Amino acid sequence: MSRNAESTAFRSALEVIRAVEPRVADAIGAELTDQRESLKLIASENYASPATLLAMGNWFSDKYAEGTVGRRFYAGCQNVDTVEALAAEHARELFGAAHAYVQPHSGIDANLVAFWAVLADRVESPALKKAQVRQVNDLTEADWFALRRELGNQRMLGMSLDAGGHLTHGFRPNISGKMFDQRSYGTDPTTGLIDYDRVAEAAREFKPLILVGGYSAYPRKVNFRILREIADSVGATFMVDMAHFAGLVAGKVFTGDFDPVPHAHIVTTTTHKSLRGPRGGMVLCQPELADQVDRGCPMVLGGPLPHVMAAKAVALAEARRPDFADYAQRIVDNAQALAEGLLSRGATLVTGGTDNHLVLIDVSGYGLTGRQAEQALLDSGIVTNRNSVPQDPNGAWYTSGIRVGTPALTTRGLGTAEMDQTAELIHTVLTQTTAGANADGTPSKAKYTLDAGLADKIARQATDLLATYPLYPGIDLS
Ligand code: PLP
Repeated sequence: MSRNAESTAFRSALEVIRAVEPRVADAIGAELTDQRESLKLIASENYASPATLLAMGNWFSDKYAEGTVGRRFYAGCQNVDTVEALAAEHARELFGAAHAYVQPHSGIDANLVAFWAVLADRVESPALKKAQVRQVNDLTEADWFALRRELGNQRMLGMSLDAGGHLTHGFRPNISGKMFDQRSYGTDPTTGLIDYDRVAEAAREFKPLILVGGYSAYPRKVNFRILREIADSVGATFMVDMAHFAGLVAGKVFTGDFDPVPHAHIVTTTTHKSLRGPRGGMVLCQPELADQVDRGCPMVLGGPLPHVMAAKAVALAEARRPDFADYAQRIVDNAQALAEGLLSRGATLVTGGTDNHLVLIDVSGYGLTGRQAEQALLDSGIVTNRNSVPQDPNGAWYTSGIRVGTPALTTRGLGTAEMDQTAELIHTVLTQTTAGANADGTPSKAKYTLDAGLADKIARQATDLLATYPLYPGIDLS
């Protein structure tokens, strides 16, 4: 692929956009500049390839395609069928899954599809059975009442939010916490690791319909074989949300007990984090759940996004190449180097390190809240996000943690030596930031002071660090 082709493609696209609304073209260009200049350590972000990005910007966006491949509610879907079938095939092959559903618009949507599939498959509901065999019009008021009663109040057991679980795993701010009677398992207060005996105990007591594995901010491997055994012992369906670490599964860094696909009944993911695809979601499942999963649209999803499914097919094809396995391994090597660099400078890390793509720094050791640390780092050109730590005294808004991840910087080509330099920059900012006070003299959880000259100096050092590793080297918009 000639670099010239990439530049020409994006330059031409911007020229066409500029002719209609120049401010949008300017914002797109500015976003590239910002992404090029910042040290992006957000664990859930990445840089999709030019081919993936270009696959999204076209007339596939104009097409309605409710239904599934070969069974659409709209005419003229033959080309959508081609890309959806390709994306599903790549997903099945890449992950060794029996079935793949590539329509979810996001990770949350993928989880909703999975919840529906499990409810429909598992809950004994005569009214639902009638509804499923398309006798919907024959259902009486009493049937509908029974259906809601029978589907409601089901139980879900997932990882607690402050231990690293995700909102969609049954927490109140998300619909999953309103649909399901939820209980959570945490981590061992001393080691920060999942205590599988405690999970088993919680499962025995609570008897969930769904046991959820997976996380947004847990820096360690999870043993999915053990979690499946626990699910089986209480008759639960085992669901894994691998949104964060799908790239590590695809790249065969997580294999055996740590690969969720052979162990879970149903696996959900996003496609835009470590997997490095377009923004979107996906569901992989065992054959017995496939029929319900395929009802995702229009059951809980709006019309599929054919342009995004095309981009998923491109990104999944990329992930099947041998160099993706190398990339996935470098993500973990970099996270471990970053962890080592921080530890050697005196930082406190949840679980004392990492074996995946993320590191969770407990910034209370620096006398800061997560919010103060996040802002001070941002002032210094380092983009991270604040995150709760287990049993966080500062709650989910201010938090006591900073989550940093390596998928994006690894895509740019930074290696372990640069991770040590990154650790130095982070540590310098955090040691030089002082927590502020409110007007009444009480400690503030948001205010902080950091010398502006120092912040600028760190930002320049961050830019220097990135200079050798240009982002989208084939794209020149000038
Ligand atoms: N599941 C997990 C584990 C996540 O970390 C996230 C997002 O961060 C999601 C689901 C939701 O993904 P999306 O933002 O695409 O809906």
